[in-house]
Amino acid sequence: MKKPKVLITRKIASEAVDLLQQTAEVEVWEEDRPMPRDVFLAKAEEATAILSMLTEKVDEEVLARAKQLRMVANMAVGYDNIDVSACKKRGIIVTNTPDVLTEATADLAFALLLAAARRIPEANRFVLEGKWTSWSPTLLAGQSVYQTTLGIIGMGRIGEAVAMRAKGFAMNILYHNRSRKQEAEEQTGAVWVELDTLLRESDHVVLLTPLTAETRLLMGEREFARMKQTSVFVNVSRGGTVDEQALYRALAEKQIWAAGLDVFQEEPVSPNHPLLQLPNVVALPHIGSATIQARTEMARLAAANIASVLAGGEPLTAL
Ligand code: NAP
Repeated sequence: MKKPKVLITRKIASEAVDLLQQTAEVEVWEEDRPMPRDVFLAKAEEATAILSMLTEKVDEEVLARAKQLRMVANMAVGYDNIDVSACKKRGIIVTNTPDVLTEATADLAFALLLAAARRIPEANRFVLEGKWTSWSPTLLAGQSVYQTTLGIIGMGRIGEAVAMRAKGFAMNILYHNRSRKQEAEEQTGAVWVELDTLLRESDHVVLLTPLTAETRLLMGEREFARMKQTSVFVNVSRGGTVDEQALYRALAEKQIWAAGLDVFQEEPVSPNHPLLQLPNVVALPHIGSATIQARTEMARLAAANIASVLAGGEPLTAL
């Protein structure tokens, strides 16, 4: 019998590839850059399953050509790169990798909060550039994090994990979600509030919703205007949730104190992007889940989803 074909769009943990090789003909895009679109389209035509990254847009154009395709296993918890309803219409299974990246991403969100509040990259540059000539009481003074109020927009798996960390910092926690999270409230003392209340009362705000039609540009001029002048804004969701021009103005005009950004509207972000010219922006290249452990587990889970479906079973983490 002909083996099913699995296309893996980037080099991933070898155990994940090994697992798939037991039952499928596996092709891995080995280059350390995303597959060019035309190559992806051509290779998708042959694929029974695609193990995709967030850099691949799986849309109508792909699906129309990928006649053999039975499933897409995204190696991410977010899936805004995939037209899920178009997949469903064609009976194509879509899976993601929840849970295995939660703690790594929460660590990074908290690291960004601390880095932006305490001006760590700015201070690091200061030392490296030989500007440290004397101690001074006001030198690189930042904002407190301990015992302040943290606002979490999107209290899902990662939001809750951030709240657990905030508890260790004796923070008062506010959150905004469409639904109430009873368990998180009991575990962390977090209090549900309307978005405007959260923005007004939080000392720092972390955004952790998925990117959807509803959350696109969720944070704009109106929202930044409601935040405190001493507040840090952290975005670890997706770049599309933030109006970057409005954020730039808020930071440049000191309506808010600083921002920690792991994600951008366009990725990779250009080094000439206005936001990157500001000293009070800490920018990272979308590394929320980038620990060796989490990335290995994500690859394994994505592969296990495909292996299960190819063996006639159910996917483990279907959308
Ligand atoms: P999750 O468990 O599904 O949590 C998402 C939360 O957002 C849910 O609690 C959801 O609750 C809330 N939400 C959805 N729409 C909302 C809206 N319109 N207003 C307010 N809250 C809303 O997902 P997760 O595992 O925590 O991951 C969250 C997101 O983080 C992912 O989708 C991904 O985009 C991003 N992420 C980024 C990185 C990175 O590398 N930077 C890594 C991992 C994840 P309700 O539905 O009740 O509102």
